Amino acid sequence: MLQASDFRRLIIVVFSATLFGWAIDDITLALLIALSLYSLWLHRNISQLLNWIRYRKNQEAPDLPGVFEDLCREMDYSRERHRKRKKKLGSYLKQFQLATRALPDGTVVLDERGTVTWANKAAQTYLGIRWPDDAGQRITNLIRLPEIAEFVDENKRLSSIDIASPTNPDIHLNVRITPYGNAQRLFVARDVTQLHRANRIRRDFVANVSHELRTPITVLRGYLENMSSQREQCPPAWQKALGQMLEHVARMQSIVEDLLVLSKLEQGDEIEHLEVVSVASLIADIQRESQLLKTRYEHMFALEVDTSLEIFGSPKELHSCFSNLVYNAIHYSGKSKIIEIRWYQDESGAHFAVKDNGVGIAQQHLARLTERFYRVDTARDRSQGGTGLGLAIVKHVLTRHGGSLHIESELGKGSTFRCDFPLKSIVAPEVPEEIDRSA
Ligand code: ADP
Repeated sequence: MLQASDFRRLIIVVFSATLFGWAIDDITLALLIALSLYSLWLHRNISQLLNWIRYRKNQEAPDLPGVFEDLCREMDYSRERHRKRKKKLGSYLKQFQLATRALPDGTVVLDERGTVTWANKAAQTYLGIRWPDDAGQRITNLIRLPEIAEFVDENKRLSSIDIASPTNPDIHLNVRITPYGNAQRLFVARDVTQLHRANRIRRDFVANVSHELRTPITVLRGYLENMSSQREQCPPAWQKALGQMLEHVARMQSIVEDLLVLSKLEQGDEIEHLEVVSVASLIADIQRESQLLKTRYEHMFALEVDTSLEIFGSPKELHSCFSNLVYNAIHYSGKSKIIEIRWYQDESGAHFAVKDNGVGIAQQHLARLTERFYRVDTARDRSQGGTGLGLAIVKHVLTRHGGSLHIESELGKGSTFRCDFPLKSIVAPEVPEEIDRSA
């Protein structure tokens, strides 16, 4: 805004020019000369101001009159504010960097292409990534593990992965990637060696106990079966007890067998020898084996099986997985029910689905069904002879095959258990024929 002093100066210039013009009898010329000089003076002030703003940031403001003085003051004030904010941000950044550097987890900041833009000290210990030496390098070039390459490229599929530390194979790391800001990602590797060790101790303990119990239980069962085949020789008071003992010992044997299967499945993350598995033959075997239950449940099967669809996997494990689902459907359906079994392929992969119209499961149980010994109705489910380990086995088998379990159920209406296998599991996947629409 024009100040009073500027206004006064302008009036004086115009007035003096007019007087002078009147004296020389050419007011227009006098005014023209005066205003041109005034413009030159303004231009000189603006140049000085610009010069100061551009090149003399750290010097004091030039001594300029009127509105220029105000401009200089404003400029000084905003520069001071900017300097203070910068200092504050700098100190925050320093604090933040000190804090993240002290984080016990290996932390690496990646840009959208997966190149390292920052890393803390623990990243060097656990991942061998040195900051700032490795700045600008792709993380997949620094950690040469196929699982890391896959994880970084498509980190949405898995929430985290476990790897052995590239710097020390005795250290186990859990790696997570969290997207943030402008397409940046935080790559965090946590040392889970203790947890890993505790898990291994638990697994070994369960496997050893099951193994040790296997023989005595088999012997006990043998004797009990022997005794019950000569029931008439037993005192009447013992006969009922004998039946119950046999029933419980059979259950204990099933639990021990299932625990041993689970321990074996847990021993490795992947199957060592993949075979071509004809799921259609597996389904036929399971159907045949389930005939034993026919007299009790009078169930029927409705099959929709793609006989040409085969996958890579372990026939033994897949048999155990599918038979668990089919037996559950038989057990939890009630009498004379139809059990639908489908084996098919679509654009996402191969699928094995078992649908029953039995008791169904309430929604709140679905997420926990694959936990060991989880039962919806403990008394009812035990009476069906289940161990509570079947779905845990199913989940493990599927994980080892790169697949997943999908459960849909409605209380009183029935359930569908679907095993999803990825496209890469399918043996020579069929390429759908192009339909020539132009014809
Ligand atoms: P179990 O050996 O007891 O059947 P599972 O792990 O196979 O153990 O199943 C866990 C629980 O899930 C079962 O106890 C049962 O309550 C429920 N369940 C499994 N399959 C079905 C089904 N098809 N219909 C209803 N409930 C089911």
